[in-house]
Amino acid sequence: MDPERERIQEDLRGLVRGEVRCDDVFVQLYSTDASIYQVRPLGVVRPRTAHDVAACLRYAAERQIPIHARGAGTGLAGESLGPGLVLDFSCHFRRILARHDERVRVQPGVVHERLNAFLERSGRTFGPDPAMSHVTTLGSVAAIDGAGSRWLKYGSARRHVLAMQIVLADGTVMEVGREPLVGGQSVDADPRKRDLINRLADVLGRNAQMIERHQPRSRVNRSGYHLAGVLSEDALDLPRLLVGSEGTLALFTELELATQPLPRHRGLALLFFERLESAARAVEEILTFAPTACDLMDRRHLTLARETDDRFAQLIPPSAEAMLLVEQDGEDGAGVREQMRALVDRIRRRRRLAFDARQTSSPDEMELYWQLPRRVVPTLYRLKGSTRAVPFVEDIAAPPETLPKFLPEMQNILKQHQVTAALFGHAGHGQLHIRPFLDLSDPQHVAVLQQLANDLYEAVFRFGGTISGEHADGLSRTPFIRRQYGPLYHVFREVKRIFDPLNLLNPGKIVGDDPELHLRHLRPSELAATAISPPWASTEGARLPASAGPATG
Ligand SMILES: Cc1cc2nc3c(=O)[nH]c(=O)nc-3n(C[C@H](O)[C@H](O)[C@H](O)COP(=O)(O)OP(=O)(O)OC[C@H]3O[C@@H](n4cnc5c(N)ncnc54)[C@H](O)[C@@H]3O)c2cc1C
Repeated sequence: MDPERERIQEDLRGLVRGEVRCDDVFVQLYSTDASIYQVRPLGVVRPRTAHDVAACLRYAAERQIPIHARGAGTGLAGESLGPGLVLDFSCHFRRILARHDERVRVQPGVVHERLNAFLERSGRTFGPDPAMSHVTTLGSVAAIDGAGSRWLKYGSARRHVLAMQIVLADGTVMEVGREPLVGGQSVDADPRKRDLINRLADVLGRNAQMIERHQPRSRVNRSGYHLAGVLSEDALDLPRLLVGSEGTLALFTELELATQPLPRHRGLALLFFERLESAARAVEEILTFAPTACDLMDRRHLTLARETDDRFAQLIPPSAEAMLLVEQDGEDGAGVREQMRALVDRIRRRRRLAFDARQTSSPDEMELYWQLPRRVVPTLYRLKGSTRAVPFVEDIAAPPETLPKFLPEMQNILKQHQVTAALFGHAGHGQLHIRPFLDLSDPQHVAVLQQLANDLYEAVFRFGGTISGEHADGLSRTPFIRRQYGPLYHVFREVKRIFDPLNLLNPGKIVGDDPELHLRHLRPSELAATAISPPWASTEGARLPASAGPATG
């Protein structure tokens, strides 16, 4: 360990109760996530309390050391990586603190799946359903405004975070929620909080028109800071702004979340298409049935699925070019089944868009159908050969009604660059996870990646979409945010300065001046290919950071 790391480790061990590790093993372990990047941090702290977090932030502020919050490290854009101190919330912040009728209070390291298993006992659920539920931590779901297949019913995390305990960049611990304003000003008793709210209200008020003018038309948008709808006449909604800020404005130490009743009945349909465009055209019709999910898989995924499991081989017709998985739910089982039947009938027989379909409400079969999207994406990472399915432009979203035109445009762009790609998407809300097959150890492929991103994002902007619908901006998308938002980018900068004047919280993400950030810190492709099951995941001894596992998204 070099002397600087040794000194920091010693200093911090005197300040916090959690573990502090700056040795090579830990630094290496925390240098990657599920993205294509690798950055070695100075060291790792596993805080036990909000006091530990505050002490780290004060120490970092005195010495100008960047801080990078981390949950399970399954981010696809390198959003938790950086050269400073990593604060890992997944080890000790794992308590569900309190449950009331329609809300629950949790620490940020609670795993998404565990919370929902707990809530299920009282017939409730936390709605947003990111695919990596079995490892994803709730602090991160809030930090990236996570969502999943059931966005059509529940939306993203932002809609469900009611209040939070945060630690500011200078170590101040604060409880925040929808903060009341009187005559446009905060009357909070705490002068630090009053000042924060008033400065934010001033920036958002002055730029209200610009904020409205520069919102994408897509239904989902994770990119940049979420400024729309934060300021109203009588309140400033701080969780609405902080959700999706990727650890760049404040760190979360407690979250108060809204919960929803679990539906009594569900039904699923698989619709098979001979052309991707037919599936895209079917989406608009399907949305009139108000489904809870409408996911799209392309031929490449379907072929992989058929090769993965005999049951999928029997389920999926070999000639299918695309498939839509559609879910409905409700309180009345017969009603749900009838809705599904009418939906399948409309798409298959009346509109003749799908050539085949399956429909079920049996729990075992529904579980099998859901495994289709959930088991197939990881197999993409295991394909043999030097090229890999690269997460880089994997989070674009367009208004769903534009998909019949946008998808052919996207395919043309891929063709122009002579690149093949796999496409999985939450088509019902226009979220498209596209992964081009490239070899990042080849500089020519890196150049293609850059040009592809330029052309694809130009098309996304033309269609009113966004470069990130649910993952994050992180290292891979921050350089493109300015193009999406134009002059609004300066307002992001002002907001960042109010929260983090020394630029120490996850610096360079969302607000940053490096136009080449997305091309720095690339991991050699062989290493990137192991992201789903890293070699160190099986190492025994010290508790290791959770690794990305099988899922989709
Ligand atoms: C195969 C695969 C499928 C995926 N599918 C989905 C999907 O369906 N939907 C989806 O939304 N995402 C998806 N993702 C992306 C990723 O899993 C999610 O973004 C997930 O929520 C990240 O959780 P994590 O605990 O691993 O966070 P990390 O990757 O560790 O961190 C994510 C971000 O949260 C910040 N953060 C963490 N804790 C805190 C805290 N306490 N305070 C402030 N900031 C904090 C970090 O700084 C970072 O910016 C997928 C990823 C993979 C590999």
